[in-house]
Amino acid sequence: MAVQAVENSTDTTTDSPGSFGPAVALSCRECGERVPLGPSFACTACFGPLEIAYDLPTGDPEALRAAIAAGPNNIWRYAPLLPVPADVAGKPSLNPGMTKLVKADNLARELGVTGELHVKDDSGNPTHSFKDRVVAIAVEAARAFGFTTLSCSSTGNLAGAVGAAAARAGLRSCVFIPHDLEQGKVVMAAVYGGELVGIEGTYDDVNRFCSELIGDPIGEGWGFVNVNLRPYYAEGSKTLAYEICEQLGWRLPDQLVVPIASGSQLTKIDKGLRELIRLGLVEDRPYKIFGAQAEGCSPVSQAFKNGHDVVRPVRPDTIAKSLAIGNPADGPYVLDIARRTGGAVEDVNDAQVVDAIKLLARTEGIFAETAGGVTVGVTRKLIESGALDPTLTTVVLNTGDGLKTLDAVAPTSGPSAVIRPSLEAFREAGLG
Ligand SMILES: *Cc1c(COP(=O)(O)O)cnc(C)c1O
Repeated sequence: MAVQAVENSTDTTTDSPGSFGPAVALSCRECGERVPLGPSFACTACFGPLEIAYDLPTGDPEALRAAIAAGPNNIWRYAPLLPVPADVAGKPSLNPGMTKLVKADNLARELGVTGELHVKDDSGNPTHSFKDRVVAIAVEAARAFGFTTLSCSSTGNLAGAVGAAAARAGLRSCVFIPHDLEQGKVVMAAVYGGELVGIEGTYDDVNRFCSELIGDPIGEGWGFVNVNLRPYYAEGSKTLAYEICEQLGWRLPDQLVVPIASGSQLTKIDKGLRELIRLGLVEDRPYKIFGAQAEGCSPVSQAFKNGHDVVRPVRPDTIAKSLAIGNPADGPYVLDIARRTGGAVEDVNDAQVVDAIKLLARTEGIFAETAGGVTVGVTRKLIESGALDPTLTTVVLNTGDGLKTLDAVAPTSGPSAVIRPSLEAFREAGLG
């Protein structure tokens, strides 16, 4: 993998480019080495992943809350906490975020939850998945670094989010997916007019191919949102934490159930929550983060249950294709967070995923994609095992739209009857 050479790597106190707002440097999650902000993603000292380090605003939390509330009704209201320029809201963007936090009383009753149960429904984003959040930040970084082509390796949703965001930003896009994805994902990835390439292999093969592309002259000028722009991209997930707390009236939930593909979203939700505590925007009290996987791709869940610190890669085989990453980059960090917060990582099988999709649909009117079936199914399992406390405030994430994964429920979701247009026929069908 080609890692951008960074000059002057020990000097991090010099001006950060104004285009990255409160972000001051990239810092290595393993060894803490700091390098200037650039299109780099791996530490030159130890090859650990780089993430954004901030100089966050200090001062009166009440004033910061008011400034956020006065901001736009999308993720840019949190611009003071993100690696983006202060005037970001004025630029062409899909403006994702501020999706609904649904108080799920019917689902709570069904699951035996006596505390508050909420579903954070990210299917309401512009391309109907949580990925619009991360891509919006990556687009700003691509602009700052002068990249002209936006790219990614994707399990489906990311390809659509990149295609749409590139179209809106006036950039070229070329995205890569495993060739055997759901039709809804493939069409969504293609319709925005960029190049879409199906790769004969798994997501992990696609990802490896993209790493090669970055090191090749072909990839010059290309911003891969989840590879060389990954430190910026990943920060977009913090907005889920911010929104959940703001929508709860600047309150931390006690428990969160988050899906795991690469594990990036889960680790950044934790980072976002810790920032809110540090800034005094929410009260400092414990919260637990639970990770959710599908049994057919559950390397992090297996490691958690076996007490391992390392995640052994698997070959995915599940209907939850958006979560089908067999070698999750952030797996070890997810294990740390689940253990540190007192949470857990659990998995459910494909039949349980389908059941959970239908349970959420019939109780709350939310049609989730398979990833939402995974989180709801895992929530049920965690309540049954006693790992999740049903008397507390819990937020379950739905990260995508069921219309993109129709095949999962189509065999068991059809008309109650097909009849002639007559009252008699309706009565005969036993429905009158
Ligand atoms: C990408 C994705 C996730 C989470 O991905 P991470 O790689 O773990 O950040 C969750 N749900 C859906 C629907 C996704 O597309």
